[in-house]
Amino acid sequence: MLFDFPDFDNHELVLFGRDEASGLAAIIAVHSTALGPACGGCRMWPYANDTEAMRDALRLSRGMSYKNAMAGLPLGGGKSVIIGDSRKDKTDELFRAFGRVIDSLGGKYIAAEDVGITVADVMTMGQTTRHVAGLSKGHDASGDPSPFTAYGVYMGIKAAVKHKLATDSLRGVRVAVQGLGNVGSHLCQRLADDGAILTVTDIHADAVQRAVDKFGAMAVAPDRIHAADADVYAPCALGAVINPRSLPELKAKIVAGGANNQLETDPMGEALRAAGILYAPDYVINGGGIINVSAEVTQDYDRDSVLRQVERIPVTLTEIFRRADWENRPTSAVADEMAREILAAGKGGQKQAA
Ligand code: NAD
Repeated sequence: MLFDFPDFDNHELVLFGRDEASGLAAIIAVHSTALGPACGGCRMWPYANDTEAMRDALRLSRGMSYKNAMAGLPLGGGKSVIIGDSRKDKTDELFRAFGRVIDSLGGKYIAAEDVGITVADVMTMGQTTRHVAGLSKGHDASGDPSPFTAYGVYMGIKAAVKHKLATDSLRGVRVAVQGLGNVGSHLCQRLADDGAILTVTDIHADAVQRAVDKFGAMAVAPDRIHAADADVYAPCALGAVINPRSLPELKAKIVAGGANNQLETDPMGEALRAAGILYAPDYVINGGGIINVSAEVTQDYDRDSVLRQVERIPVTLTEIFRRADWENRPTSAVADEMAREILAAGKGGQKQAA
C-alpha cells in the first residue's frame, strides 16, 4: 500500500504513467506545492523493480521540496522517473508520451533534466506539454542546468574545505569524484583549474579515460572510490552511497558532491558527524541547476543573476556547518530543520490566502 511505504512523506500526489505503444513506464511524485508548482528533474534508469523506482521517486521529490526551499525558490518539490535504459530505450515517441503524462497534471509538476535525461529529451517532451524547463530554445530558455549545478558544488566544496581544513585554496586538495556525467565532468574541470588532485571513477570506461587524459586524474574502480585517499569525497552519480558498508572505509574528512540522496538513511548523517566527517547536505550544495531552471520557469532568465544566486550556496552551507558545530548536531539534521521551517511557513501562507 502506497501510504505505508517507508519513503512516503505525505506526498501530495503520485501518478503512474503507462503508454503501451511507446513502452513508457513512469512515475511522477509531487511532494509539496506549498511554495509553488512542483519542479524537479526526470530520471531515466533501468530500475531492478517497480519498488526501487517508486522509492527513488518518493525520496527524490521530497529532496526537491527541501532543495527549492533552501535555495529560496518559488517552487515546490517533485520528481519523475522513467523506467528504462537511457543508452538503449530512448525514442521520441516515449518522450512525447511522457510529455502527455506531465501535461495531464496541468502544471502541478514541471519536469527538467536528471540522470539519463538530456536537454534534447526534455525538448521532445516539450512537443506534447509546455510544463517542462531546462530547454535549449524559446523565450527565457535556460539550457543545460548541469554546469550551474557543478558551479554550486565547486563553491560548496570550497566552503567545506575552508570550514574543515581551514584553507581558502583547493591547490593540492585531493578530491575523489564518483560519476563523470554532466555534473561530475564540469566539476572536475573547475577543480582541476584550481589545482586540486583528482581521483575519479565511472561505470563507463570512456568517461574515465577522458578525465584521465584531460585532468591527469587517477582512476579507481567504481566500488573503491569512497575509500580513495582523499580529503573530499564528491559523489556525483547515484544516491545511497553513504551507508553502513561504505562509511567505515571512508578516508575523506569531507563529503560534498552533486548526487541527490547521498545518505542511504537519515541516521547516516549522525554517523558521519560521529566519525568527524563534514557533510555538505546534498540538496543544498547541488541547488545550482534548479536555480537556473527556476529562472526559466518564472520567465525571468538572467544568467548573471542566476550566478549570483548560485554563489549564495556556500553562504547557506557555512551557516549550516556553524549551526551544526554549535549545536553538536549533524549538518543533515540542521538543513532538514531549516527546510521544513520554510515549507511550513509556505503552507501557512497558502492557508491564509485560501
Ligand atoms: P549523468 O547521468 O550525466 O551522470 C551520472 C554519471 O554517473 C554517469 O556517467 C554514470 O555512468 C555514472 N555512474 C552511475 N552509477 C555509477 C557508479 N555506481 N559508480 C560510478 N559512476 C556511476 O547525471 P548528472 O546529471 O551528472 O547527475 C549526477 C547526480 O547529480 C545525480 O544524482 C543527479 O540526481 C544529481 N543532480 C544533477 C543535477 C544536474 O543539474 N544535472 C542537479 C542536481 C543534482
